[in-house]
Formats: sequence, structure tokens, C-alpha cells
Amino acid sequence: MYANILYPTDGSESAEAAIEDVRDLAETYDATVHVLYVVDTTHAGLGSDPDQEKAPGMVGHPEGGTAGMVGDRSTAEEVQRTLERQGESIVEEAREQLGDVDATTAVRAGVPYEAILDYAETEDIDLIVMGTHGRTGLDRYLLGSVTEKVVRTADVPVVTV
Ligand code: ATP
Ligand code: MN
Repeated sequence: MYANILYPTDGSESAEAAIEDVRDLAETYDATVHVLYVVDTTHAGLGSDPDQEKAPGMVGHPEGGTAGMVGDRSTAEEVQRTLERQGESIVEEAREQLGDVDATTAVRAGVPYEAILDYAETEDIDLIVMGTHGRTGLDRYLLGSVTEKVVRTADVPVVTV
């Protein structure tokens, strides 16, 4: 029924709270888990287009420890590489927590919900399991904005934890 399960994680506690369910579902359906981290390029100064205008601004998550001013291309590239490395350790850690479950990891760059939906389409994902909240984690919102957009627009079922 569910051969490929997508588990997008931003490394937050809220995302980590979903991992038990991810493992259970994968074991139940003998599925492969795809762990995905997206480097958020909506922050000023980051982007896949090298010619895009780089406005100085804050990058990185408030708790991510990488916040800083990005004023030129080489700094932006450095910040992006740092975030990619952080992403790689986040997805590796998740893979370890999945134990014997068949799992693959990916780090992409882009607008998080777009990259998640794009990954789901190109990798034949049948189920998405994600946190209700992420790094911002504001209780006054029912769902974080990434989850809200994925729930609203994904073609496959989405389990929010
Ligand atoms: P907001 O981002 O709207 O300020 P938030 O950070 O609390 O609020 P979301 O970002 O929607 O909430 O996070 C909800 C879930 O979405 C996370 O638990 C995680 O599963 C997924 N997610 C969020 N950001 C990313 C990301 N950059 N890469 C992969 N998955 C993500
Ligand atoms: Mn978020």
C-alpha cells in the first residue's frame, strides 16, 4: 500500500517527534523511508540562481546558530554550504534512529514546501509523514506553514504528528 514514505525534517523536536510513527508505518508496510531536509532559500541572500540580487539580511533559523548578514555571493555560498552540511547531519541522524528500516536520505535547496512536493512527485512517494510544527513552533497556529501547504496541495495522504 505504501511502498515509499517521505519524512521531511527540519531537525526540530517537533519533526523528531514523528520518527516513531515513521518507523512503525515503514515496518507495517515494508516501505522505504526517504528522509529529506530542505535548505530554505527563501532567506535573503540564498538562492539557486547565482545572478539573483543578494539583499543583505538574516539567514538561517533563529536557533540554528548560523544567522548572519549576507552581502555578497561568496558569503551566501558559504552559508548555503554550512546549511547543507547541517542538513546532512540531520538526515543521517534520522536514518540512524530508523534502525533496520530501509531508508534513504536527501538534502535539497529551495522553498521547503515546494521541494517537498517536488520530491514526492519525482520519487513516487505514496505517503508523507511530518511534524505539525517545526523550528518556529508557534502554538497559536494549528499547523506550521510548511505542513499547512503540504497538507493542502499534496496528491498523496499526509500524516501530521
Ligand atoms: P513556520 O515555518 O511556518 O514559521 P514551524 O517551523 O513551526 O512554522 P513548519 O516549518 O511548517 O512549522 O514545520 C512543520 C514540519 O514541516 C516539520 O516538523 C518538518 O516535518 C517539516 N519541515 C519544515 N521545514 C522543513 C525543511 N526545511 N526541510 C524539511 N522538512 C521541513
Ligand atoms: Mn518552519
